[in-house]
Amino acid sequence: MIRANDPSLSSWVQVPANSEFPIQNLPFGIGKLPSKNPFVVSRIGDYIINLSVLAEHGFFEDMGFDVRVFERSTLNDFISLGKEKTSKVRDRLSAVLDNDLEDWDASELKDFFLIPAADVELLMPINIGDYTDFYSSIDHATNVGTMFRDPANALLPNWKHLPVGYHGRSSSIVVSGTPTIRPNGQQKPDDGPPVFGPSKLLDFELEMGFVVGQETQLGDQVPVDQAEDFIFGMVILNDWSARDIQKWEYIPLGPFLAKNFQSTISAWVVTLDALQPFKVDGYEQTPEVLPYLRQSNLKNYDINLEVAIEPNGAAATTVCKSNYKYMYWTMSQQLAHHTVNGCNVRVGDMYGSGTISGPEKSMYGSMLELSWKGTQPVELDNGETRKFIQDGDTVIMKAYSEKDGVRIGFGDCKSKVLPAKNIV
Ligand code: MN
Repeated sequence: MIRANDPSLSSWVQVPANSEFPIQNLPFGIGKLPSKNPFVVSRIGDYIINLSVLAEHGFFEDMGFDVRVFERSTLNDFISLGKEKTSKVRDRLSAVLDNDLEDWDASELKDFFLIPAADVELLMPINIGDYTDFYSSIDHATNVGTMFRDPANALLPNWKHLPVGYHGRSSSIVVSGTPTIRPNGQQKPDDGPPVFGPSKLLDFELEMGFVVGQETQLGDQVPVDQAEDFIFGMVILNDWSARDIQKWEYIPLGPFLAKNFQSTISAWVVTLDALQPFKVDGYEQTPEVLPYLRQSNLKNYDINLEVAIEPNGAAATTVCKSNYKYMYWTMSQQLAHHTVNGCNVRVGDMYGSGTISGPEKSMYGSMLELSWKGTQPVELDNGETRKFIQDGDTVIMKAYSEKDGVRIGFGDCKSKVLPAKNIV
């Protein structure tokens, strides 16, 4: 349940104006204090909320589940409680912060469950079992098709009939703040035999990921109109890509080592509950899709997206401003398609949207598009230019929704690129 801006928020919780973490957000993550065990956290303003402390003092004891889920090192057990219970936990948290519970007064506990954000290390929030990445932005797919194939037929014949995707690698998905090591691999110069070495065309992909909140069994299909019941929440996803490795290896089975060396996600999982006020009309789909993909109410989410490059020792330059609403295929259609053959899904599985570009050049979600295959260098504020990402650069992605004076954000998804390791 979402409440409007609530002036009754306890005076002991100050939420700075323009904070991405007002009481309407209350995302979930995993936090850690020095030499302590990890715990489940949420956030209000500049404070981390330690849910295990609230649980210890009985704030969730009437809700009918084992509160030790708040002492785990990932959110999987908490998410497995199901949406009915996890939504009630958000509502309860909001009541705690408003200090409007009949039976409990949280004010004396505030120094124990509210911790300054700077004191808490945020860990990888999910144990991701399986990872699938889609290719669902029409502007991105059109740009790539125009660059590499045929501007007149940029989209392949299947593109508007099904959400194209591939199975990725979950072991190398890491939390924001983890450095990215430049991958080594095979590359094929246009005028000679293949060579081996560090990728010269390292790129980011601006994506959002969604996290599965309810499992299915082999043979089950998730109906498109019920798909959101199976989605717990969303994160920012940087699906790092090595374009030179990709170009040589991807035929005929698709991306492999160009993509699986690392992907970075934001530490906060913003719930679909929190995102409901930001629903907007979905992309008009022509030709009409097959019945199993036909949503009775085609809606998307209005989430502003930004990418900045911060060179070593210099200020960051924003190089892209896009929006999740430009996605052609919705999360519901992606999940319905993924399960239509009976493939089962599990709690904590992650689905990448695919690079999210918009219709204008300033909205392109990768350096491949921003520099148009390296032919148009991108200017940074410090006078340097970039065709792709250099060692020492930090790539910072942000995502937030804003409406009627309420701003809900995902925090940062950032990572610094380190030089490739030598071959041993
Ligand atoms: Mn991708």
